[in-house]
Amino acid sequence: MSKVLKFGGTSVGSETNMRKVAEIIRHEQAKVTVLSAMSGTTDSLVKISSDAKNGKNCSATILLLKNKYDTCIQNLLSQYKEEALKKAEEVFSSIKTKVHNYKGISTEREILAQGELLTSAIFTFFLKESGLKAVLLNIPDYMHLNEEHTVNTDYLEKSIRPIIETSDDDTYFVTQGFICKNANGELDNLGRGGSDYSAALIGAAINASEVQIWTDIDGMHNNDPRYVENTYPIHKMSFDEAAELAYFGAKILHPATIQPCKEHGIAVRLKNTMAPQAEGTLITNSGDSEKKFHAVAAKDNITVIRICSARMLMAYGFLRKVFEIFENYKTPIDMITTSEVAVSLTIDNDEHLSEIVEELKTLGNIEIEKGNTIICVVGKLDHSKSGLVARILESINNIPIKMISYGASNRNVTFLISSENKKEALQFLNNHLF
Ligand code: ASP
Ligand code: MG
Repeated sequence: MSKVLKFGGTSVGSETNMRKVAEIIRHEQAKVTVLSAMSGTTDSLVKISSDAKNGKNCSATILLLKNKYDTCIQNLLSQYKEEALKKAEEVFSSIKTKVHNYKGISTEREILAQGELLTSAIFTFFLKESGLKAVLLNIPDYMHLNEEHTVNTDYLEKSIRPIIETSDDDTYFVTQGFICKNANGELDNLGRGGSDYSAALIGAAINASEVQIWTDIDGMHNNDPRYVENTYPIHKMSFDEAAELAYFGAKILHPATIQPCKEHGIAVRLKNTMAPQAEGTLITNSGDSEKKFHAVAAKDNITVIRICSARMLMAYGFLRKVFEIFENYKTPIDMITTSEVAVSLTIDNDEHLSEIVEELKTLGNIEIEKGNTIICVVGKLDHSKSGLVARILESINNIPIKMISYGASNRNVTFLISSENKKEALQFLNNHLF
């Protein structure tokens, strides 16, 4: 059975780390290795294309990025050095050409794709030099979006699976995360951080035995280690718990990753490239479901929209009208609470906020509040048990809570606070629940 291993930007961010990755994939016998661009690349490419769009000079940014890649190639490769340098030269001169002929969003997508394309090419050269039978797959040939901008998984499976299945046991495939081709046949991508999702889709398409996501932290922690002291990695969790945590802020995993793996029953393992011996986190259908409080995650930049309307009183169909407005602007709703005459909703994408508010005004009075954080506590929060929600709220009883949601699943309690109280809330929860 074959494994799909995905490595994030930091894991391939330097010559030294690329060497570690090569050792890991040899040790794990990775059938398919999915790579992000070297760390910082996509941010730079975003800047380059936005400067290009605004008519600003971006040659300095391009040069800086090119130097990073040239240095990596110089230190990593010998036999394939010239070929790799030539490839980098081609990639960066094509970026310059695209900058000069900037045609809008399609050019931006082409520019953004270059990081993954170049990183995967360099790494494949390195594997070959190390004596492995490495094959570079151009994922846009297999990962296609349909008109609705979702991945055509049938095509992916049909096109990629035979290649993998008929390959020799000792063949290592290397490919790009993040990028794909859209319905117009142009280069496109799955959104920022999307290479985890690429790996999951590929894993499902080839019926992999496991999808491993390698980053620079030793698994999913019980709380956000950037804000809280004394967090620890969770060794086992269920797909549902992982999905909640990833969606509500755990940066280690792109939330879309879970669904294809859950559907196909493929285990997801989160591992640390800098400490491969650390156990990491194993996500499966069963997980470790015995703990009452398993983990906490937080998601920032949340906007609350409060709709107050006497028309809601004893009415039906009101929520449908509200939801339709959000649907028309393709804006997902995260949390929702209702009373008889009011509804509060949260969104994390403000792009169409003003249009949404204009339309909502036809339904009632609207209030907007920005700068909030959703805190999500995940665990075995059985509806039949008493005191569990109380314990969560007690631990943060000096922090004002703006919204709360419990009961949708018996897996999580979600609440909304002002972002300025986030760090304190996370630390209190950590002290009291774990
Ligand atoms: N390189 C892309 C990004 O930075 C995709 C990824 O790393 O997952 O968003
Ligand atoms: Mg990532």
